[in-house]
Amino acid sequence: MVDVVVASRVVLRTFRFASSPHAWRRGAPRLRPRVARVLRTTLLATLARPHAGLGFFAYICSMLDQIKVVAFDADDTLWENEKRFRKAEKLVAERLSEYGDFDYISSELYKTECANMEDYGFGAKAYILSMVETAVNISKGKVDAGTVKFIIDSGREILHNPAKPFPGVVETLRKLSDSGAYSLVLLTKGELLDQEHKIARSGLAGFFSHIEILSNKSGREYSSLCAKLGIEPGQFMMVGNSFKSDIDPVLRLGGWGVHIPFEVLWKLEHVDEYDHPRLFRLSSIDQLPGVLL
Ligand SMILES: [Mg+2]
Repeated sequence: MVDVVVASRVVLRTFRFASSPHAWRRGAPRLRPRVARVLRTTLLATLARPHAGLGFFAYICSMLDQIKVVAFDADDTLWENEKRFRKAEKLVAERLSEYGDFDYISSELYKTECANMEDYGFGAKAYILSMVETAVNISKGKVDAGTVKFIIDSGREILHNPAKPFPGVVETLRKLSDSGAYSLVLLTKGELLDQEHKIARSGLAGFFSHIEILSNKSGREYSSLCAKLGIEPGQFMMVGNSFKSDIDPVLRLGGWGVHIPFEVLWKLEHVDEYDHPRLFRLSSIDQLPGVLL
């Protein structure tokens, strides 16, 4: 195993050197940067799956170079979001503590959210309405106007998310954008005005050639997006924190996924995860240029 690791490091360094401008100056044969990138990424993907063998290497090698569009989820991928929902939930549960403990109120709120999903969709405003409805239900109609106002104010804090980009986000988007190798797309689901505000506050809009705010992210929406962008699903890569919304539908469609989990995930986004030849798992977004460039 040690030999494999050492050998892979030597090969990786050779690729990096051969694809760098220094190789020219030193008179070494230089691989085309795109070829070097594909070989390097393929090798990394293969090393992550040592049992897959050469067939897998050849498959990924032939496919990876086709990616034209890299799309990014926004909430909890580019900036923090879910923690604000959890903070509002905690404050409201404390205010309603005479009607039950946190676990009971949280469970009732989740049931209300799920029941309201079709009518209200995702987002902070839907969450505020569900919190008020939950308060009315668990208090059997006794909740007072002051508490309703408290719930609304707690939820409003979610809407004031400064959408400050995570460390490494700006640098990563700049590197990918400057490379000219990919079109960058922002793809987020939620309430239109709230998402528009966050995108504006983040200061990231200029990196993206296309921004789309959806009410849901399923295979149908990804398929429509690919058609709109004039690409095949195999030319599309999605980067996001939710395996259920950002990764699974894209892999099933024939596209590529980069899963970067965040420490907090909404209950409704929980799903069984699986490995896939077109899936990369990263712990931080600043690892993405190492995969794509
Ligand atoms: Mg997300």
